[in-house]
Amino acid sequence: MQLQWFGYYLDGQSANRRSAKIYLEAGHLRIDLDDGALLNWPYGTIRQTQGAYAGEQVRLEYGAEPAQVLLIEDLSFLTSFHQVLPNRAGGFHNPAKRLQRFQLTIVAGCASVALLLGTYFWGIPTFAMLAAPWVPVSWEEKLGDSMIEQVAPAELRCSDPQRLAKIEELVKAMLATQGETEYRFKIHVVNQPIFNALAAPGGHIVIFRGLLDRTENAEELAGVLAHELQHILKRHVTRSLLEYASTSFLVAAVIGDVSGIVSFGVEAAQMLAQMRFSRQHESEADEAGLQMLLASQIDPAGMIAFFEAVRKEEGQGSSALSFIASHPQTEVRIARLKSLIAASPSGSQKLLPDYSWEDIKKICPAVEKPAKSLKIR
Ligand SMILES: [Zn+2]
Repeated sequence: MQLQWFGYYLDGQSANRRSAKIYLEAGHLRIDLDDGALLNWPYGTIRQTQGAYAGEQVRLEYGAEPAQVLLIEDLSFLTSFHQVLPNRAGGFHNPAKRLQRFQLTIVAGCASVALLLGTYFWGIPTFAMLAAPWVPVSWEEKLGDSMIEQVAPAELRCSDPQRLAKIEELVKAMLATQGETEYRFKIHVVNQPIFNALAAPGGHIVIFRGLLDRTENAEELAGVLAHELQHILKRHVTRSLLEYASTSFLVAAVIGDVSGIVSFGVEAAQMLAQMRFSRQHESEADEAGLQMLLASQIDPAGMIAFFEAVRKEEGQGSSALSFIASHPQTEVRIARLKSLIAASPSGSQKLLPDYSWEDIKKICPAVEKPAKSLKIR
């Protein structure tokens, strides 16, 4: 590796340009001037003011204004500087990174073409189905985190640790039957009177207070959680998002551009609220969720009871039930679940036997009831 370079030195006082030999030494840059004078510039005090773009020479400055200046034609100086002193060179441009950026642009270009061809020949749903299993869990997590910021903002989150732990206990009991999973599941309770629960990519489950308030026991909530857990494990959310997503997000996902994924999160969060899963995804989540309940010895009657309650409200024509809007055909689903349960009888144990379920509903701080409004929204 090269450790010596030639350049020019200006003292900042005169226009006199002197040739210099430059050495990378521990702790400082050594500059030997043509008249035998020797200068040491400690690394932490050197400023790079030029050399970040192709064709530019490297310009380093040192000391108070008017600063002393060092000009180096050979850009390999910066590369060696980064190699020799990786923790010293942080403030300096790294030409290797420029190459990386360039390569990333090429990859993004190829990815866009592949995406266009893929969606053209297979259609977007098929493409999303083929691509979803290849999206790394770490990207799903980044996307999910940024979506959660929108759907469950910190000021609306009910984070009572003891009560949250009760809900997490249910999740843990069910996951224990699922073998190894890459996902780290996170439960968020949102203080809004919405009758809904959502799954976001990367292991996030959002429960709205409106849904929690309508559960009568732990088994009912477990039924809802089982269903949402399966949407995540089977990557239904990621797949649906890929179907709705813009090409720019798909490119970001393919090349692993984190900032692109995060900025898509805002858009994705809005989609999540209106997203409809296909009927096939719904019955998959129902059935795998039910199997998970049975394997964990959780009474599946809770899941049925909850769906029955949903159906009852459905019959009353309430339009506020987004849980149903995204989970269609309640009656058919209940019938299917009942026949599955009949076909696989098994014992069950009471969940959280020493816990009074009504207490869970205090997880959110009380909200003052707004005065009745005549506005119809
Ligand atoms: Zn669902």
